[in-house]
Amino acid sequence: MSYIEPAPIKDKENPLESMMQRFDKAVELLGITEEMYQILKVPRKQVIVGLPVTMDSGEIKTFEGYRVIHSTILGPSKGGIRFDPDVNLDEVRALAAWMTWKCAVVDIPYGGAKGGVACNPREMSAGEMERLMRAYTTAMLDVFGPDQDIPAPDMGTGPREMAWLMDEYSKSKGMTIQAVVTGKPLVLGGSLGRTEATGRGVMVSALAGMEKLRINPYRATAVVQGFGNVGSHAARLLRERGVAIHAISDISGAYYNDQGIDIDAAIAYRDSNRGSLEGFSGAETFNPDELFTIPVDVLVPAAKEDVITKINAGAIKARMIVEGANGPTSSKADDIIHEKGIMVVPDILANAGGVTVSYFEWVQNRIGYKWTLERVNRRTDRIMKDSFDKVYQTSLKYKVSLRIAAYIVAIEKVSSTYTYRGGF
Ligand code: NAD
Repeated sequence: MSYIEPAPIKDKENPLESMMQRFDKAVELLGITEEMYQILKVPRKQVIVGLPVTMDSGEIKTFEGYRVIHSTILGPSKGGIRFDPDVNLDEVRALAAWMTWKCAVVDIPYGGAKGGVACNPREMSAGEMERLMRAYTTAMLDVFGPDQDIPAPDMGTGPREMAWLMDEYSKSKGMTIQAVVTGKPLVLGGSLGRTEATGRGVMVSALAGMEKLRINPYRATAVVQGFGNVGSHAARLLRERGVAIHAISDISGAYYNDQGIDIDAAIAYRDSNRGSLEGFSGAETFNPDELFTIPVDVLVPAAKEDVITKINAGAIKARMIVEGANGPTSSKADDIIHEKGIMVVPDILANAGGVTVSYFEWVQNRIGYKWTLERVNRRTDRIMKDSFDKVYQTSLKYKVSLRIAAYIVAIEKVSSTYTYRGGF
């Protein structure tokens, strides 16, 4: 099988290049050596596999799959598996590094990894997906393991695919090994609280930021872009804590109500309307391009990457941005936002509630005991709040944004662990 590495995209803002620019900035401030820079930058392991799969037509189609282990210095590597036509090694490599920094920011004992298969799940039957997932798992038997590398769902995969992965891996070992993967269905050892965990972390981060800015949640307003898993749970939990959600949006459009949107009603409507807010009567529709220009206390981008750019950053009127999505802000927009004095709780901190509860799932699988929802939530809240405080203190110490401070916290942790362990 030939492998052609994709060329980097020149002069185009993209979330992965933006991450590297912030990484470089944090490294410069920390003053780490060139040797350490290379250790942190180069992934430990990159695996490319060819996966022949029998399609429903009887034809055998061969897919290309990847798994990149960026770091295992803090513990077994952790990261999702992406099924998407655009997956390539370059992207998987950058996303694996992203996982290293995210786990280190919230201080959970994992390294970073990511996997992917170039395929189009929307055009595949359940049977084809199952055969592909099982083929990928078999090809990665010596990579995955509860003490080595623990996958999870990402774009195009979910609990169903994780169940197949766990089953295939377990069969190869002759025993049930739940802890090899997280994001499983509850009956297979999934954790209570996982579904809402990322939105919950966004809520905790938003409240922690509001406290620093002396914003009273009961008088605060917010807008949320994206009304899927992260956006709707973040909106619901913020509303529960007093924040009025003036606008929400999804792929169907944007919805505004100056009295505050009834979020439970919006969720119920979406769930009865094939996942879409289209036709929701509890708010007026408006131009989605104007979402970021609404003067509110909190803006939560929770849809997709690269939505806040140098083109629209100047028009943002929120006092703080809490990044539910991965990479919603380009690095060129960072300076504009910083100059405007807007606090940004960065993605690697704000949306780390998800990986935190994945870690709890793995812990529960290993001890063979199920925690209550109350225990999962309490521990998630504590990790998120402690992590926010650490990043905030670091931002004061280095006089930098919370984003650069988050990278400093992560890089400092990983690089000092390398230094203590040594052995080069
Ligand atoms: P999802 O598919 O459940 O929801 C995405 C939502 O965004 C949908 O409501 C969709 O209609 C909307 N959307 C898509 N394009 C839009 C656009 N142009 N304008 C407005 N809305 C748009 O996805 P999710 O799991 O909620 O993930 C959202 C983001 O959060 C992604 O960037 C993801 O990588 C990130 N994230 C998710 C998790 C998690 O646990 N689900 C964890 C960390 C980060």
